[in-house]
Amino acid sequence: MEHECMLTKGQGRRSMEDAGIPTLKEVYALLSDEHACIQFLMSIGVLAAKVRCPAVGCSAEMREIQVKCAFRCKRKACQQFVSLRSTNSFFSAHKNLAFHDVLFCVFLWLHCLCATQISELTGLARSSVRSILVHVRQCMVEYNAMHEAPIGGQDVIVEIDESKFGKRKYHRGHRVDGVWVLAGVERTEERRLFMTVVPNRTTRTLIPIIQQRVHPGSIIHTDCWKSYFILKYHPTLRHYTVNHEMHFKDPVTGVHTNTVEGTWRAVKATMPDSAYDGNRVNLYLEEFIWRRINHGRVWEAFMRVLKWWRTENRQFKSV
Ligand SMILES: [Zn+2]
Repeated sequence: MEHECMLTKGQGRRSMEDAGIPTLKEVYALLSDEHACIQFLMSIGVLAAKVRCPAVGCSAEMREIQVKCAFRCKRKACQQFVSLRSTNSFFSAHKNLAFHDVLFCVFLWLHCLCATQISELTGLARSSVRSILVHVRQCMVEYNAMHEAPIGGQDVIVEIDESKFGKRKYHRGHRVDGVWVLAGVERTEERRLFMTVVPNRTTRTLIPIIQQRVHPGSIIHTDCWKSYFILKYHPTLRHYTVNHEMHFKDPVTGVHTNTVEGTWRAVKATMPDSAYDGNRVNLYLEEFIWRRINHGRVWEAFMRVLKWWRTENRQFKSV
């Protein structure tokens, strides 16, 4: 009785609108049945639904052969056969896995599970899961780069800070100190941001990035790191500082960098200990940025990324 009541009121249940991602129950059919999965991916354009015959001089339309996950040329004289796997898509990079297994991994990754957990829940090898997650993050890097826009705007406050990522590791005598990351976060509801790995924290490194990533007219808040001082003379950006040796928020001007400090804590919580070199840190930064941009609609947004991947004819660079 109580259970029925909960259902009718919709209480105790989470809808897709809450998290922007379906529940396992909602998509279980797609994630457990290869045919259902393929039809779904075709319906949203992630897989090619129509293929032209690749045979020399033919280019007739091909017919889908569902049981074989393939296409056959409609022309009787030709009959060319093309596997669905060999048509370009995100999935064709993972040839030894079923489409629904790859989609299951993606689904669990969108739920913020790590490679070990995904491997345990799906029964797939750790190496396969890791390969899919590298690919997923590679998509983030390229997709973000294509859709990158400066943050801030006239009179919008942008907090800027640098932070060191990665643990100190002593391995065969090599000391790895981690990498520096520069970030800027808007003090707006969207908290739009940029984050980028930098080789050092000099004026020469930091200022050109700020000029490129922050709209003219913005108000920049930073701490008193000396490399930022030249911003005082910038023609289109206004710059204010807070002295962290004295206080976190300047009692007179109200200047602080609490938003970007909070962002550091959030992004570092998503970063595994193994990410201490620039390339790996960068992959996790891009994932964090992508998740923030698409907050509340990650499933739909990632399906768009997969479609983009196919239509842009991207290739997976295995690492
Ligand atoms: Zn043909």
